[in-house]
Amino acid sequence: MNEYTIKLKKKQKVAEETWMFTFQKPADLKFQAGQYAMLEIIEERFTDDRPKFRAMSIASAPQDNHLDFIMRESESAFKKNITTLEIGKEIKIKAPIGHFSLPEDKNKKIVFLTAGVGITPIRSILREEELKKSERKITLFYSNRNVESAALYKEMEKFKLKNYKCVNTMTRKCTNWNGEYGRINDEMISKYLDEVENSLYYVVGTKKFIEAMRKTLTEMKVEKENIIFDNFG
Ligand SMILES: Cc1cc2nc3c(=O)[nH]c(=O)nc-3n(C[C@H](O)[C@H](O)[C@H](O)COP(=O)(O)OP(=O)(O)OC[C@H]3O[C@@H](n4cnc5c(N)ncnc54)[C@H](O)[C@@H]3O)c2cc1C
Repeated sequence: MNEYTIKLKKKQKVAEETWMFTFQKPADLKFQAGQYAMLEIIEERFTDDRPKFRAMSIASAPQDNHLDFIMRESESAFKKNITTLEIGKEIKIKAPIGHFSLPEDKNKKIVFLTAGVGITPIRSILREEELKKSERKITLFYSNRNVESAALYKEMEKFKLKNYKCVNTMTRKCTNWNGEYGRINDEMISKYLDEVENSLYYVVGTKKFIEAMRKTLTEMKVEKENIIFDNFG
């Protein structure tokens, strides 16, 4: 892990109260898709009693020449500082950190289970798999409240991967949605997987989401060693 100063190139709203920040990527920063960085504000306009750094998954692929981070707005000083950061301004990052990466074995089937901004490390992994023309069998279950709050759900459907399935699901009724409804549960998982066994389950999200998925997968008799968690807290 090294420390870098990175410059903001672009920021865009990607869903309700959700922003994607694109920074210049340091030439010597090497990371694996799925890893995260510790972001720190340099010029603080807002302060509070919470830490001035946050863990954020890198949402771009290692091959991209930029670094993407996606996060929800909040009242914390960190979030207010980053959402008001002007283009050209810098922050500090420590990276890379974490082990949320795909196994070397390309025959392992991958199942991603996530909700909300938990999509970030998965986006990095899927972008890389697409660039590598991977033929790995991958199924993504991506849960959101409604389409307005679902960051990049359309992008997730469009990856050009040979053996990829994307299941977007909304937990509240939406007028503009014809896809799946409801929380990710055993019924939904079984509906889209050819077999529940012989897969690695990658679960990303809040502690609450992680616990719900741990319970579901355990009830489905998925072995503990086949479940990998990325706990956002
Ligand atoms: C490995 C990893 C990767 C992550 N990747 C991402 C990512 O890609 N995108 C992303 O958005 N997040 C990510 N997170 C989570 C991120 O680090 C933040 O915790 C999260 O975004 C919330 O930040 P916040 O500043 O809004 O709230 P925080 O200040 O971090 O607080 C979290 C919650 O605790 C409560 N809280 C804490 N302190 C106080 C206080 N003093 N007063 C009131 N309430 C308080 C609030 O309810 C708040 O919503 C990741 C976390 C980890 C560990």
